[in-house]
Amino acid sequence: MFRPARIKLTAWYLLIITVISVSFSIVVYTGMTAEVRRSLGRQALRAYIQREKSQVPDQGPFPPPFVEGSPDLRARSLHPPAFDPQVFAETKRRIAVQLVFINLGLLTISGFAAYFLAGRTLKPIEEMLYEQERFTADASHELRTPLTAMKTEIEVALRDPSFTQDQARELMRSNLEEIDKLQTLSDHLLTLSRYQKGLDSRGEVGLVDVFNQAVKKIQPLAEAKNIQILSDLQNISLEADKTGLVQLFTIFLDNAVKYSPENSKVNVAATVKKNKVVITVQDSGIGIRASELPYIFNRFYRADASRTKSQVHGYGLGLAIAKSIIDQHSGKVDVKSTPEKGTTFTISLPQKHRKKFFRISRPT
Ligand code: ADP
Repeated sequence: MFRPARIKLTAWYLLIITVISVSFSIVVYTGMTAEVRRSLGRQALRAYIQREKSQVPDQGPFPPPFVEGSPDLRARSLHPPAFDPQVFAETKRRIAVQLVFINLGLLTISGFAAYFLAGRTLKPIEEMLYEQERFTADASHELRTPLTAMKTEIEVALRDPSFTQDQARELMRSNLEEIDKLQTLSDHLLTLSRYQKGLDSRGEVGLVDVFNQAVKKIQPLAEAKNIQILSDLQNISLEADKTGLVQLFTIFLDNAVKYSPENSKVNVAATVKKNKVVITVQDSGIGIRASELPYIFNRFYRADASRTKSQVHGYGLGLAIAKSIIDQHSGKVDVKSTPEKGTTFTISLPQKHRKKFFRISRPT
């Protein structure tokens, strides 16, 4: 799909270069032929003066010695002696041939350069389109799964003539579960698109406050698994979007609790290093294989262990949202993990916000 576009763009680049190069060559050709005509004229005049001088040797200083710009020379130049037109034509032809060769060489080199540059220009667009297509396919797949489950259950129920009220209640309960999943998915997608666009507002935010708000949301799950969430946040504050930070903590804490065994601990700590707030979220859960670590921040990516061993439901959008929030704060995230031992996420955010004039962010 992008090959014809690349060739078209190359043709446009070449056309522009050709127009510039040919116009420049015409100017050079006109200038050079005028200069050659002038030089040949001068040469012929000089030869004429020399000839006259040698023919009348004893008549004093006439014709006067050759002095550039002298009134006598100017007077003679009004009727300059003719130069050889064949020499002039030959020189003109040579200039023209040289310019044609220079242009051909230039256009050949430009052709390769234009093809290369067209590829570079189109690459980000190609990547974005590919991302968009993959995103649409993944989202459709995730949407189709609960819809298919609901449809099948309803069809089976409709075909059963002895369908009881209790069975109908059970069907509705099951459908409600699927609807909850769809709602969670659409909420995640909306949150992701919101944080990819930018942040609501920035202000001084205390980490303890953010942590407490996030823990409130995770508490029911943590209590159900008897997991302790411990913190050492040292009253640190930073310039950030508070809602975004609460979302960020919620995602990391939720994952830490989801992927940890019962009766374990999750540790959250923060320090300030060189004007950067460094936050760590550490758990002793199922861990992530090294081969899967580069992909966990991609949209819809779920590591094998989370699907098979822990059987935790999710859409693989949490870390993509977290990465968008971190990017919007000009921060960084790093992860270290050992399967069956645990995972540590390290998030580093600037303590003070610095305005950026240009920001180009790619979809994760
Ligand atoms: P999900 O909804 O599946 O949790 P996320 O985007 O939050 O989606 O995480 C992507 C994947 O990264 C998860 O499916 C899981 O495999 C892995 N992961 C994230 N956090 C942890 C963690 N603390 N321990 C183990 N695996 C994790």
